[in-house]
Amino acid sequence: MTITSPLARGARDRLDELDRRLEKAYGTPEAVLGNKEDPLDEAIYIILSFQTDLARFGATWDRLKTTYPSWEALERAPVPQVARVLREGGLHRQKARTLKRLVTEVRRIAGELSLNLLRDMTDEEAEQILTRLPGLSWKGARCVLLYSLGRNVFPVDGNTFRILKRVGVLRSSAIYRRRYLHDALQAAVPAARRRVLHVNLVIHGQRTCLPVAPQCPRCPIRSICAMKGLPRAARKAATGPFDLAAQTKRLRTLPANYRGAHLMAERPLK
Ligand code: SF4
Repeated sequence: MTITSPLARGARDRLDELDRRLEKAYGTPEAVLGNKEDPLDEAIYIILSFQTDLARFGATWDRLKTTYPSWEALERAPVPQVARVLREGGLHRQKARTLKRLVTEVRRIAGELSLNLLRDMTDEEAEQILTRLPGLSWKGARCVLLYSLGRNVFPVDGNTFRILKRVGVLRSSAIYRRRYLHDALQAAVPAARRRVLHVNLVIHGQRTCLPVAPQCPRCPIRSICAMKGLPRAARKAATGPFDLAAQTKRLRTLPANYRGAHLMAERPLK
C-alpha cells in the first residue's frame, strides 16, 4: 500500500521559517515545561500530562511526589489511593491504573524501578522499549528520549499537530495516530533544531495557538499561517481586532466536534 506523505508541499521551508520566528518570539523557555532528567520520572510526568494543562499536571506531579517520595512507595500503593492523589489532574482513575501498570512493567523488564538501562541503547532500541510500556505513545517515548536521554528526536504532541495543520506544514488529511506522521515530521526537522522547535511549538500551543480560541491577531507567525481547519467563526475572530472576551464568546459557538478534535488529538493511555 502506498502511503501519501502527511507533509504538505514546501513543508521543510515552512518549518525553517517557523523555527526562526518562534525562537525569536519565545526564546525556548524549556524550564517552564518542567520535564525531568530521570527517564522513569519523565515517563510518569508524561502520563500525568494527558488531556490537561501544564499548571494542573505540574501540581499533580508535586502531589504525587509528596505522597510517594520513592516509586517503590507508588508500587506498593493500591490503585484507588493513587487515583485520589491524582484527582485534580483529570482522568485520575485511568492514570492511576496506567501508572501502576507502568511501574509493574518497568520492574519486570529492568529488575528495578529505573529506566537507566535505556542510556546505553540506540534511539531505536530505546524507543522500542518505551512504546511497549503502558501509557507511552511515540510522542511520550520521544519526550523521554529528548529530555532525559538528550537524544535528537522530535516529539509530536497535540500542540505541535494542531499548529502544524493550521499553519499548512501538515496536510489537512494527516492523522495523529500514525507512526509515519511522527517519523516524517522528525525527518523534516534538522537534528540540531529538534529540541528548540519542539519546546517553542509547545509554548506557542499553550500561549497563543490555543485549541479552541487561537489568538491569531497577536500571533508571531500569523503572516505565514494558512489558518487551515479554522471554522469561519475562528477566521473572523482571527482577522478582526484582538478582543479575547469577544473572541472566546464567538468561539464557544463552534461545533463540539471541532473542539473535541483538538482536545482528543492525543489518546495515548493504553
Ligand atoms: S495565526 Fe492563528 S491559527 Fe495560525 S498559528 Fe497563529 S494562532 Fe495558530
